[in-house]
Amino acid sequence: MVWLRREDHEDRELRALCPWGLPSRSSGGRRLPEAEDPLRTAFQRDRDRILHATAFRRLQHKTQVMAAFEGDHFRSRMTHSLEVAQMARSVARALRCNDDLAEAIALAHDLGHPPFGHVGEEALDEAMHGHGGFRHNAQGARIVDRLEDRYGHGLGLNLTLAVRRSLLKGRIPDGFPLSPDLESRSPVPVEANLVDLCDKVAYLSHDVDDGLRAGLFTEHEAAELRLWQQARSAAGSDNRQRVVSEVASLLLHDLVESADRALTGAAPGGPPPRLQHGPSMAVAANELLEFLRSRYYRAPRVLEVMRDGAARIGRLFAALLQDPARLPDGARRRVDQDGLPRVVCDHIAGMTDRYLLKATN
Ligand code: MG
Repeated sequence: MVWLRREDHEDRELRALCPWGLPSRSSGGRRLPEAEDPLRTAFQRDRDRILHATAFRRLQHKTQVMAAFEGDHFRSRMTHSLEVAQMARSVARALRCNDDLAEAIALAHDLGHPPFGHVGEEALDEAMHGHGGFRHNAQGARIVDRLEDRYGHGLGLNLTLAVRRSLLKGRIPDGFPLSPDLESRSPVPVEANLVDLCDKVAYLSHDVDDGLRAGLFTEHEAAELRLWQQARSAAGSDNRQRVVSEVASLLLHDLVESADRALTGAAPGGPPPRLQHGPSMAVAANELLEFLRSRYYRAPRVLEVMRDGAARIGRLFAALLQDPARLPDGARRRVDQDGLPRVVCDHIAGMTDRYLLKATN
């Protein structure tokens, strides 16, 4: 017999993972207990549920930085999430952490983003002032726990606790409605920390590529950056694609080496070590981030589109609050339990950029 059953995958995990990797047998379980899958581990199953979620398909038409309608070759939230998943898998595997868990977290890490990026997020947070606020990380947990109601049990995708906890990084607004079992913020698995770092590697490298493609800065200007210089000499070429791909490789290799040192030096049984880039790569990465902030994320051409989107979000929020009959049936059914402002917020946060533009024309 050549096929591997779930139990075989689980046994392989126990043999292969380093002391910090989280085995799927320690996933923390699901809110609604389910029979195990005969072929897939709990984390592989979580990954597949995320991939098949409506919220995941919507990422295709959500802005990363350049709005989708500006060109077919810019990253969307979906291509960004796929790049993060690919990097997270490689890095987790190299460090003998659980690559299935890392992949599941990576695919889900941006599910809660509203249309029009961080400016859209601020607009919704402002609209929800006094009603629990809005933040994409918390919304991601809300989507997988409640809004993505495919199975009719009211518990969303019913993912494992380890994946659900891993989505809650950063600040959660006071009063944001989370599932009660997520309120205590216990330590997240190291795989969540790795995904977070790979998220940054992915956007630093693909945004330098997209910013050049959009003509918002030149290769000559990028060549002032330490990381670009290192990448060019590692690539042994001025070819843009090769340099960009070297930027990602340099960041990932540094990440694996410094995370390896942290994991090797940490006492098993204690709290998981915090993983980060080595000091000199952290400086170089930060220089690139500052460059992208001023030349790309805050470029007038980018901000103009984002601010128009944010203004539309504000207007649509007010209009739906006035006239809830315009909400779709599924959303209206949640009003009794969640309150009208939260339902309006969920509805708008779920929209793609183009759907929001259509709804506000
Ligand atoms: Mg991201």
